[in-house]
Amino acid sequence: MNEKSKFIALKNYIPVGLPTENDFIAKEKEINFSDERNVLVENIWISVDPYMRARMTEKKNYKHPFIIGEPMEGAAIGIVKKTNSSKFNVGDYVLNNCGWRDKFTDSENNLKKITNSHFPLQSFLGPLGMNGHTAYIGLYKIGKLQKNQTVLVSSAGGSVGSLVCQIAKLNGCKVVASTGSDEKVDWLKNELKVDHAFNYKKTENLVLKLKELMPEGFDLYFDNVGGDFLEAAIFRMKNYGRIVICGRISQMNSTTSPQGLKNMAHVLVKRLTIKGFLIFDHEDDTNNFQRDMIKWLTNKEIVTKETIYEGIDNAPKAFVDLLNGKNIGKMLVKI
Ligand code: NDP
Repeated sequence: MNEKSKFIALKNYIPVGLPTENDFIAKEKEINFSDERNVLVENIWISVDPYMRARMTEKKNYKHPFIIGEPMEGAAIGIVKKTNSSKFNVGDYVLNNCGWRDKFTDSENNLKKITNSHFPLQSFLGPLGMNGHTAYIGLYKIGKLQKNQTVLVSSAGGSVGSLVCQIAKLNGCKVVASTGSDEKVDWLKNELKVDHAFNYKKTENLVLKLKELMPEGFDLYFDNVGGDFLEAAIFRMKNYGRIVICGRISQMNSTTSPQGLKNMAHVLVKRLTIKGFLIFDHEDDTNNFQRDMIKWLTNKEIVTKETIYEGIDNAPKAFVDLLNGKNIGKMLVKI
């Protein structure tokens, strides 16, 4: 008997501006179990991520655009319900790329079994998944994190940013964290113990604010947002400072063309290094990350928060709210 899958599709491309829930539609289709698609999975947790916004335009990016009317993709964790694969048993938990839907069939080759049962399942979409890996690689490999330096983090109350802050603190660094709500400021200060946190939405002059909070300037800036914040950070970098370009969320939904940086003279005179990276290039480099993150989580040296929306129908709202900063820590959908 064929099963039905409920999924979320894009109704139309969104070339500019913030997506709304009306840009998405819930649909159903039959899924077939076959020799090629030999595992049937029911999703339990679905990740919504800022990078998905880039796949909602027709523009070529590092991943192809989502197909209008078809299930969107993204990381998810599900449970195996039926299988004729020798690699999986019914009841196994699997990491997959078939998010935005309640169930699916896929080839055994596209699924990864989760064997570590010491952590909540959804951790493998957060600190033990792509977000944690991004924070770790971005700081150590790209940013060449050194002990006891000064570190600036934007979107610090989100999934990647909150991990970046904590890893930097574990290295004895002084951390200044920027975020978009007072609730997130409190969390960053009181629970994550950053040295300073501030609400950029209530800040008139970013350069002066950064100067007030860290008069000596920054050795490392972990940039999740781009735009004006990046320009302000460049003004406040120390000589030989490093800037890690991880994301550009302030520009993703902009309705105007991005402006160039007006202070490139500071990059030259201070001999700054500015380096972008995509975590997909580092999939073979996970051993140190897994070893350290497992240790930090086990010892509660790193703590996490999740913002959880219930049900596949709420996945578009979760995504739109993520872009509007309604999440603290990792935004997740529980099916
Ligand atoms: P977050 O959990 O940080 O959520 C996104 C946050 O962005 C929102 O909560 C909001 O927080 C903030 N934001 C939204 N609009 C703006 C704006 N105009 N200006 C400043 N901040 C804004 O998401 P993730 O942790 O998943 O991702 C963080 C960043 O890392 C993103 O830019 C993402 O694209 C990037 N990334 C990059 C990867 C790579 O391979 N290079 C891999 C994974 C993520 P606030 O309340 O602070 O406004």
